[in-house]
Amino acid sequence: MKNNIYAYTLEELQAFFSENNEAKFRASQVYNWLYQKRVNSFAQMNNLSKRALDLLTEHFDIEILTFVLKQESIDGTIKFLFKVRDHHFIEAVLMKHDYGYSVCVSTQIGCKMGCTFCASTIGGVVRNLDSGEIMAQVIEIQKYLDNANERVSSLVLMGSGEPFDNYDNVIKFINLVNNDHTLNIGARHITVSTSGIVPRIYDFADLNLQVTLAISLHATTNTVRSLIMPINRRYPLEELIKAIKYYNDKTKRRVTLEFGLLNDVNDSIAEALRLGDLIKPLLCHVNVIPINDVSERKHKKPSLSRIKQFVETLEKQGINATIRKELGSDIDAACGQLRAKKASLIRRRMYAKRINY
Ligand code: SAH
Repeated sequence: MKNNIYAYTLEELQAFFSENNEAKFRASQVYNWLYQKRVNSFAQMNNLSKRALDLLTEHFDIEILTFVLKQESIDGTIKFLFKVRDHHFIEAVLMKHDYGYSVCVSTQIGCKMGCTFCASTIGGVVRNLDSGEIMAQVIEIQKYLDNANERVSSLVLMGSGEPFDNYDNVIKFINLVNNDHTLNIGARHITVSTSGIVPRIYDFADLNLQVTLAISLHATTNTVRSLIMPINRRYPLEELIKAIKYYNDKTKRRVTLEFGLLNDVNDSIAEALRLGDLIKPLLCHVNVIPINDVSERKHKKPSLSRIKQFVETLEKQGINATIRKELGSDIDAACGQLRAKKASLIRRRMYAKRINY
């Protein structure tokens, strides 16, 4: 397979042209076509020399994602399903907020974390996405917004996959997208969410980026957390809290703790009280997520009154807590739901084919 042009930094592209006896400034020209004019093909780059164009087409692909379908919610949320070059499906979501448009990108094809409430992990992980495949999701959605003269202003790395299980590509992507030669999305407008891969939290703290770190906490005891998030067996709560504290101290930044409420699993008053105790040493705010029902999963969303009671119990302890606005719940917007649906559709088709055979 050829190289993904969106995985290249400007410096790497300059080095590529230099090594091939072409002027370095070709890289800036290409970057301009990719990230400012946002063309779909090398052929459109009409200020390049024939030789530079030939070099590009010989070594690189620009069509990284093929649009497959989109699902539009009544609240304006749009979920995009794309096909990657090796024919797997990935999804990305465009959300409209009062402060602008944000995009939720996938970082892996599938996920190996095994959280029991999440659709992304059904079927495990296929492979990591490279930084250019993550970038291409943003570019494709930005192209869609170009029609309305709008721009992507913030990013969340909360689609399918565990970003810290694909650490190097994710960090490269963040540095790429944050660069003023590309889409120039401010670090403060980027959030990366992890299920709690402790060693990478230390690494991330040491990078001292302005990016927001979100941690999927979801439970306050090792028994419950290990039950719904197998990663907890490897990195239990005590270690996770210690790593978050290190992050706080090192970066002086607040983390977002995501707490997905699952009916009768982690939504009691006692749990909310324990949460208060657990996070006392941390600089954080809690984002309470009414879990989206996933048809393949047995968990259910608690009633509104139980959700409110949970949040009120947190607030009474002086904890800064918000309920995540549910966007796109009418369009399978929880991570991996569309991809899972498409995959099962394809499996069914394959199965049907086998029967016909
Ligand atoms: N693997 C990373 C990032 C992807 S998941 C992580 O675990 O943080 C992004 C967020 O969506 C996580 O907080 C995850 O727990 C949450 N999530 C997963 N399934 C969900 C569902 N069915 N409803 C609501 N949120 C869900």
